[in-house]
Amino acid sequence: MNTVHSSEFIVQSSELGVIGAPRTPHPAPLGLYIHIPYCASRCSYCDFNTYLFDALQAEQYLQGLSLEIDLWAARQVICSRRICSVLFGGGTPSILPASQIVGILDHCRAAFLLEEGAEISLEANPGTVDLPKLRAMKEAGINRLSFGVQAVQDRLLQRIGRAHAAREAEHAFWLAREAGFTNINLDLMFGLPDQRLEDWEESLRWAIRLNPEHLSAYGLILEEGTRLHHEHRTGALELPDEETEAAMYQMTIELLQGAGFEQYEISNFARPGFRCRHNLVYWEHQEYLGLGAGAYSFLGGRRFYNELLPASYVRGIRERGTAVAGGEQLSHEALRSERLMLGLRLRAGLDLQTFKETLGIDDLSASDQVVRLLEGGLLDLREGRLHITERGLLVANELIVQLL
Ligand code: SF4
Repeated sequence: MNTVHSSEFIVQSSELGVIGAPRTPHPAPLGLYIHIPYCASRCSYCDFNTYLFDALQAEQYLQGLSLEIDLWAARQVICSRRICSVLFGGGTPSILPASQIVGILDHCRAAFLLEEGAEISLEANPGTVDLPKLRAMKEAGINRLSFGVQAVQDRLLQRIGRAHAAREAEHAFWLAREAGFTNINLDLMFGLPDQRLEDWEESLRWAIRLNPEHLSAYGLILEEGTRLHHEHRTGALELPDEETEAAMYQMTIELLQGAGFEQYEISNFARPGFRCRHNLVYWEHQEYLGLGAGAYSFLGGRRFYNELLPASYVRGIRERGTAVAGGEQLSHEALRSERLMLGLRLRAGLDLQTFKETLGIDDLSASDQVVRLLEGGLLDLREGRLHITERGLLVANELIVQLL
């Protein structure tokens, strides 16, 4: 992979588009990610690029974001593209007042070509929304909400440093329904410290009772630099053992499928017609533009990222006309690995013909490792698509690594 530094990249990024060129729609749609790097407090497992909320700093940050929108909208590579999904992620975007969220969305609508019916999602935390805020967001065109719930036991929420209590999650969900949201995701986590199998079952059954359109169930990952990682190193962390964690995952699939959710990705479940469009942009290796501090973009085979710190991000935008801090032109090998890794996460699997045509790769199904995994019943090949079997799901990450 060729890493490029920001100054080098700025030259390249200017080549990506002619400023002020007319809008001729480009056939492939684009995902748009907007990073809001503020939270009420820091969860003990989180390594995202986020900081404690400060209204004044957030105001300055949003001014930078506005400028970044204008800078990208002036480039043909972006202004000619249809935007199929917008995701306000973070951080906790819902910590902002409704007027600021609506302001950014209106600005995007004016600057970019948003597709009719584009998915416009916002990540929200219980305790940061009320009915007027939710109504204002709905009215402005946000059509999908994703609530970070994680667990419904207060002792577990406290253990992982979440800022909300379980009853606030349920309250927020019903407020969102009252405001008219008909596409809601709930994020849950398993493998948490002190979490028992029955706690996890209670969380799943609670979510099923609420009947959202989408559920994400992620296993805890101990990221370096987090409080939980530190506790783990010092031996102060009691985590469920491997067997319990596997049972939790298996229970997730059984209960959610039994309740009519379709598992369309290793950790994601949806009612028919409610798969997350934005996440599919990532998993299907489509292009996206990331705005805001630390946001990543993937355009023209290049992956690049913005300055991490909000103040450096705003300074970059104001003084250099770009916040891009670095990036890389992905090699053929890297593109292959990414597409393989992302495609296999999808239950529909990887379309081998497209894989071969777009990357010029020989028949993957003939490779020794794939043949071995097919024979072992961990992979399956049906109608030209290679996918992980139910048995393989339990070891999906290790299995994917073997193929890279
Ligand atoms: S609310 Fe989300 S982004 Fe913020 S600290 Fe917690 S996990 Fe991280």
